[in-house]
Amino acid sequence: MGQPSYDSAMESLIAARIRLKWLWVRLWAGPYTLLGLTLGVLLGGRMQVVDGVIEIHGPRIAALLRRLPPRAIALTLGHTVLAQSEGVLSQTRVHERVHVRQFQRWGPLMGPAYLLASLYLYARGRDYYRDNPFEVEAFASERAPHCEAGMPPTRRTDKDGVDEGS
Ligand SMILES: [Zn+2]
Repeated sequence: MGQPSYDSAMESLIAARIRLKWLWVRLWAGPYTLLGLTLGVLLGGRMQVVDGVIEIHGPRIAALLRRLPPRAIALTLGHTVLAQSEGVLSQTRVHERVHVRQFQRWGPLMGPAYLLASLYLYARGRDYYRDNPFEVEAFASERAPHCEAGMPPTRRTDKDGVDEGS
C-alpha cells in the first residue's frame, strides 16, 4: 500500500496558501487598482504587466501627474503604476514596488493613511512628502544593496521630479 506523502501534502498546502494570498492582496488593494486602470483607459495610456503589476504610461498620464502636489513622475495605485514615460517606469520600479506592497498591506486604508501622515507632517512643519513613513520606506529600498546596479538613489534630488506614493 502506498503511503500518502507528507511532503507533497505540505507542498500543496503551501501552494494553496500562496494562491489564496495572491487573490486576497488583489482584492484588498482592488479599489485602487480599479481607479488606476480606469485612469489608464480614460487617458489612453499604454499598458504593460511586469511582475504582476500593471504599468501604464503616456502623454496624458504625464500631464495628470505633473498637476499633482508634489509634481509626480510616477504614482502607484494598488497593483497599477502610472508614470510619465516607459523610462520612468523602469527607473522607479524598485521604489514603486514598495508602494505596491504597502497597498497590499493597507488595502482601502492606504489613501487615508498616506494623506493623514502627510497632513500631520505638514502641520508640524516637516516635509510632507520626504518625511512621510510610506515614502521613507520606499526611498530606503532604493538604497538597499540589491538595487545598487543601475539605480542610483541620487536620481531624485530634484524635488519637482519626485514621485508620489498614493
Ligand atoms: Zn514614493
